[in-house]
Amino acid sequence: MSDPSRHTATHPDQQPNATQSRALVDRAERILCDLDGCLISGSRVLPGAQAFVRRYASKLVLVSNNSTDTAETLSRRLAHMGLSVPEPRIILAGETALARARDTVASGDIRLLAGATMQERARKIGLRPASDRPEAIVLCRDATRPQLEAALPLLERGVPMIVANPDLTHPGEHGPVIETGALLALLKACVPRPNITLVGKPSAYLFHAALGSVPPGGAVMIGDNMETDIAGARALGIRAIHVSPGGLCAMLPDLGQEADNASTEPLIAGV
Ligand SMILES: [Mg+2]
Repeated sequence: MSDPSRHTATHPDQQPNATQSRALVDRAERILCDLDGCLISGSRVLPGAQAFVRRYASKLVLVSNNSTDTAETLSRRLAHMGLSVPEPRIILAGETALARARDTVASGDIRLLAGATMQERARKIGLRPASDRPEAIVLCRDATRPQLEAALPLLERGVPMIVANPDLTHPGEHGPVIETGALLALLKACVPRPNITLVGKPSAYLFHAALGSVPPGGAVMIGDNMETDIAGARALGIRAIHVSPGGLCAMLPDLGQEADNASTEPLIAGV
């Protein structure tokens, strides 16, 4: 039997057109999708997002460099915005950085540079996030200046640092918002060669977490950032679709025909 994908195939590194994009998402075993700039912008739901989440609920996984929220807090926030995405289907850079710390620091002694939500999450998974004898540092977006300064002597001693993501900014409602990568640049200005591991896109950690048991060839990634979403996915052999911010409907024009205010009752089972 002929493979229908052959009729719509492009080179894996080429941007598919709307018809090819539709075929890719329809036949994908798992759809990985960025959040900011694809489904939401700040507190605003972007056009087509509700219809997209409803239509592809059974195989959608959000993959975000967010290191402010946990999957639990983000799932709740999205629900208030009319997007029903349960916790197991949300893979975030901050939580993944903490999971990496848990998996690599047997003692659990770390220094977490982050806000209250991530501190609580760290303790919940067995880490001691304010240890005086940390074996690793974890850097997230909401690190405070005192936290950053206190990390400098640790970095000078060569304590390894797990960094949630390399982004300098992300788009906020009123302009760019300072991101984790900008804090990393600040630390590098003080301690030139820190020992770092990047977890967020474009590195492979987040994509592997989102793929689970699905092979890269069985997934498609949708994102608005060429350097992180698209380059990171393609480096792993995942087909990728670039959308401009708010451009879901340009990729899948029929989404616009579905009322964005239709029922958003939970449709998604666990992964
Ligand atoms: Mg984005």
